Amino acid sequence: MQTLVADHPLIAHKLTALRDVRTETPVFRRLTDELVTLLAYEATRDIRVEHVSVQTPLTAADGVKLARPTPLVIPVLRAGIGMLDGMCRLLPNADVGFVGLARDEDTLVASTYATRLPADLTGRDTFVLDPMLATGGTLEMVFQMLASRGAASITGICLLAAPEGVARMEAAFPDDFPISVKVVAGGMDERLNERGYIMPGLGDAGDRLYGEI
Ligand code: URA
Repeated sequence: MQTLVADHPLIAHKLTALRDVRTETPVFRRLTDELVTLLAYEATRDIRVEHVSVQTPLTAADGVKLARPTPLVIPVLRAGIGMLDGMCRLLPNADVGFVGLARDEDTLVASTYATRLPADLTGRDTFVLDPMLATGGTLEMVFQMLASRGAASITGICLLAAPEGVARMEAAFPDDFPISVKVVAGGMDERLNERGYIMPGLGDAGDRLYGEI
């Protein structure tokens, strides 16, 4: 698996504001949205395209358009929903699938409570949206679901990652994994705490986006 941590002052600036406990929900949502669009630019660097020719007002020009089948974007419920608009701004024609996973706060093990994915993902680039790559349990399960359905490539987009989660993902998807597997993160934090939260992190991304319900 390839791990890419964005190294960009604008991303670092927005992440810092996101971390701040004083940042309230409306601003947190907007910053999340903006960060995803910036990360999506990097995450789609290898997206499949096909060559086309267009007529400019002056002459013919060679260019590209996104290849078919269209990419699939998968927000992981609930917090991943906060990343969907920012991603679809760059990929307006993408289809959207959904996976709901909840993590048991005692065991930290993730279990699936909802899945809406095409049965066959042959030839499709897939992009998984999950703000926090913490233990890696959730992302590993979703990536395995997509790989077993035949995805052509899998890219996770996360606002923050912990070294423990990245290590787990790299072990689960080694370099000889048959398809391209990538994680693009806005930042790499220090560690997980005993409750599986990223430190220093930003707290519970779902709660900060949607409230403690
Ligand atoms: N999920 C979150 O929302 N925050 C963390 O720090 C870890 C998992």
